Amino acid sequence: MFDLVCVKCGETYPADTVLYSCRKCGHLLEVRYDLASINITRRDWLSRPLSVWRYRELLPVKREPVSLCEGGTPLYHLKRIGEELGMKELYAKHEGMNPSGSFKDRGMTVGVSMALQLGMSSVACASTGNTSASLAVYGAKAGIPTIVLLPAGKVALGKVAQALMHGARVISINGNFDRALEMVRDLCESKGIYLLNSINPYRLEGQKTIGFEVIDQLDGKVPDRMVLPVGNAGNISAVYKGILELKALGFVDKMPMMTGIQAAGSQPVVRAINEGLAEVIPDENPETVATAIRIGAPVNAEKVLTAIRGSGGTAASVTDEEILSMQCDLARKEGIGVEPASAASVAGVKKLVESGVIDRDEQVVCVVTGHLLKDPETVIKQCAPPIECEATLESLLAALQL
Ligand SMILES: *Cc1c(COP(=O)(O)O)cnc(C)c1O
Ligand SMILES: [Zn+2]
Repeated sequence: MFDLVCVKCGETYPADTVLYSCRKCGHLLEVRYDLASINITRRDWLSRPLSVWRYRELLPVKREPVSLCEGGTPLYHLKRIGEELGMKELYAKHEGMNPSGSFKDRGMTVGVSMALQLGMSSVACASTGNTSASLAVYGAKAGIPTIVLLPAGKVALGKVAQALMHGARVISINGNFDRALEMVRDLCESKGIYLLNSINPYRLEGQKTIGFEVIDQLDGKVPDRMVLPVGNAGNISAVYKGILELKALGFVDKMPMMTGIQAAGSQPVVRAINEGLAEVIPDENPETVATAIRIGAPVNAEKVLTAIRGSGGTAASVTDEEILSMQCDLARKEGIGVEPASAASVAGVKKLVESGVIDRDEQVVCVVTGHLLKDPETVIKQCAPPIECEATLESLLAALQL
């Protein structure tokens, strides 16, 4: 049993309403469960496979889900990078290991299932790339038409390839992400298409399971800190909400310090936190190599301020150079291949440890959000090309200088 509740004025709406913002005040909605009526123990959960659907009692879906085995992603100990930083307990949750290669699949398995539950027959989103790839995948699995709007020329190659191959109608907008989102909202509202951006409160329900899995993978322990890259700020807000629910259920007794990392060229949330602002003031022209977080007007601005402040966390920005250098370190020192936005979380930890904001003794979990192969062009640009060689052993030995 659950309602949709406005995070600002508290107005409630029944669970079967197709609604993306409060009718009274226009603010964001969230799903609120009647936790007292939820009859589940941690032991029941632990008897099921590690996946989004392990936690179905805390999800809004009542029908057979549209699922491709999302979640259940590895939690890696960052041994070498941790040692360099003097940290014993630095971890990375590799969300690039989801079906379409990003955490968006956790949101879309729930969001597309809800589209069917609510009787909607088509879905749409605006996207910096991964949302469109994931929606195309889950729209295909559900067998319903999918429309995705992308900012022209600013989407990584692998993500466009996925959206096209999985059969979405892909529209390239001559404008940035923020404009594409305004357009798709108008489209959905005028044509009765189900909107699956992170303004959709059901999508975020799926994403909160990242936090649940981390706690299960740490044998029931809540890490001191969770660090996430922040674009529209849906993911960090979702993880916070989920762990609050576990706390209300008595399954855990503390909250992790929620820590958001943005790119230096696109950091409206960092400014709001550092300057103690009541609201996030949008960046007009966000720019960063980490296209997944190239967002000037975060949709979930009010939720992220609550998550960071409510947990005693913080926010920081990292330069494109720091992001790319950490992408390389993760790949070469840990064997973990991620796209640039994902590396921002670990680059942020490095910066905050070096500046004394994060204590070296903390147990820290970084969420690395998407797979290396999402953005092959940025990877190739950073690496030396293969060494050319004639097809003889002699030339091979010469090429290898052996
Ligand atoms: C979507 C995305 C983000 C940003 O998540 P938000 O919920 O928009 O803050 C970060 N990294 C990757 C790889 C993404 O796809
Ligand atoms: Zn309201």
